[in-house]
Amino acid sequence: MSELVDHLATVMRVRDMEQLDRALVVLLGDTLSPRELGVSVRAAADSQTDWTLRAQWHGAGGDGTPSAVSAPCPAGLQGLVAEAARTQRWQQGEPTEAGTWAAFPLFNDWDGQGVLWLRTTSPWSARRLKRLFSLLRFYGNFRDLVSENERDTLTGLLNRKTFDAGFARVAMATTFSPLDASGAEADQRGASGDAPCWLVVSDIDHFKRVNDQFGHLIGDEVLLLSARLMRQSFRFSDKVFRFGGEEFVLMLHNAEPEGARRALEKFRERMQSHEFPQVGHVTVSLGYTRIQPDDTPDSAFERADKAVYVAKQEGRNRVCCFEDLVRAGRLPAPEKTGSVDFF
Ligand code: GH3
Ligand code: MG
Ligand code: MG
Repeated sequence: MSELVDHLATVMRVRDMEQLDRALVVLLGDTLSPRELGVSVRAAADSQTDWTLRAQWHGAGGDGTPSAVSAPCPAGLQGLVAEAARTQRWQQGEPTEAGTWAAFPLFNDWDGQGVLWLRTTSPWSARRLKRLFSLLRFYGNFRDLVSENERDTLTGLLNRKTFDAGFARVAMATTFSPLDASGAEADQRGASGDAPCWLVVSDIDHFKRVNDQFGHLIGDEVLLLSARLMRQSFRFSDKVFRFGGEEFVLMLHNAEPEGARRALEKFRERMQSHEFPQVGHVTVSLGYTRIQPDDTPDSAFERADKAVYVAKQEGRNRVCCFEDLVRAGRLPAPEKTGSVDFF
């Protein structure tokens, strides 16, 4: 019991969704002792339907960090997990020598669809299920609190507060591929073979006119619908933020320069062709930059914002890459401000 209380205390210190899922699997692993368990998530709102593993626990313990080698969820379990997500009810497989698999829906919201899966020695008894359900209820309530704290109230997108922490994680994972003095990239890939990450600023064109012509409430509706379009246009792993106002910030993960440009152009076209109720058509200007290992949230934002400025000057409704503009001599190369020495 005191162990359970310790675990709950750990969970309640968490202020970040991914940490919360890891804390959940460790809590359930230590209190229910299944053979293994994990939390798998898939995007609810876009076409990419693959499950990704967010947290995992083996009989041997561990801190819940998913191991790089494991599949999104063990083979044979995919059907059960998908069924739990579809029906939003828990599902149990046939008992076999290896144990019994079960899947429990966890959430179905802005973060995608999350399912908890477990393999236990024997099928679930009513008493054990009751215990699990009370832990999951606790998790659900706490998750709502964390989510509320992380999100902008109008659009449901991540807020400014969460940007710095999210950015730090990306910058740390960013592989070394610095800009040289001319702004050209020394190498497209770093040692780990991962493609680069990008910071994108998207600003609605002539948004003041929308407010002036149709009023603030209709303006808010355009913001809400634009946020939804943006969320649906990118992968679930690409985080979208609203800092307030009509500017959205996106962190695009693991994309080659050409892929990043294509994804942003696609979003720009999607916005342009969308028919907003009463207002009609609205366009956006986008500026983006490659995230460097020694970037701070402000330094990366500033570069992307400069690219937005150029996009606006060039007539709006376009996508501009900071590094391309530097290479073309249209923007000065950034001064080195970070602590890391490029070589
Ligand atoms: P530009 O193409 O140069 O970006 O022109 P713009 O009119 O969009 O200019 P700017 O980005 O400077 O203006 C942003 C406007 O967005 C100012 C303000 O009226 C409006 N705005 C900011 N936050 C909100 C909000 O929460 N709701 C609504 N309805 N309007 C907002
Ligand atoms: Mg603006
Ligand atoms: Mg604007």
